[in-house]
Amino acid sequence: MLGAPGVGKGTQAKRIAEGYGVPQISTGDILRDAVERNTPLGTKAGAYMNRGELVPDEIMIALIRERLDEVDCQSGFVLDGFPRTNRQAVGLEKLMRSLGLKFDAVISLEAEREVLVQRLLARRVCRRCGADYSMTMRPSKREGACDLCGGEVVRRPDDNEETIRNRLEVYQRQTAAVKGFYAKRGQLRLVDGGGSVDDVFARVEDALSG
Ligand code: AMP
Repeated sequence: MLGAPGVGKGTQAKRIAEGYGVPQISTGDILRDAVERNTPLGTKAGAYMNRGELVPDEIMIALIRERLDEVDCQSGFVLDGFPRTNRQAVGLEKLMRSLGLKFDAVISLEAEREVLVQRLLARRVCRRCGADYSMTMRPSKREGACDLCGGEVVRRPDDNEETIRNRLEVYQRQTAAVKGFYAKRGQLRLVDGGGSVDDVFARVEDALSG
């Protein structure tokens, strides 16, 4: 699942994971968990994340290699937020080949920059279970508390205006080119990321089956 920050990759990847019974592998979630638990990975990644920059490719490729080796990935998975550079895409291609795996689809969710900024500013997440909310479109029933687990619902530290601007620039500079990588291989499917979660998911399902 490719797309700019705020386009709804995580939300849609979660829906695919639930619908198809496969794990959602979000590199952002894995890194945030490592930062929270103060692991060596978290120490290395935290500063990049706070600036809205990409964590170095070697770290990310090693992380994905380890994750895909876990037993729950054997009957499929949905990648969310990886690859984000051409080097990561090449690393992933090698890894998939060595594991004898092929993608069913590479989906890029698309939306205008202003929509992305507004969604990121409105985004809130549960610190405990990761459920996501939007102050404008899908607020939690009780402010600051998760509908699903009662955990604390907060703004992500990198969802502030300055970091958002940088993340969108980084996307244009380093990540947008990854679409070309998959387009050349005839695997890319562009999906309009505008509208409600259900509307977008209907388009994602079409892209998955088409
Ligand atoms: P996300 O939750 O996908 O928006 O990711 C949050 C942050 O984690 C990004 O701004 C990057 O700093 C880092 N990150 C996540 N995935 C990657 C990746 N594939 N390559 C490099 N950095 C990543």
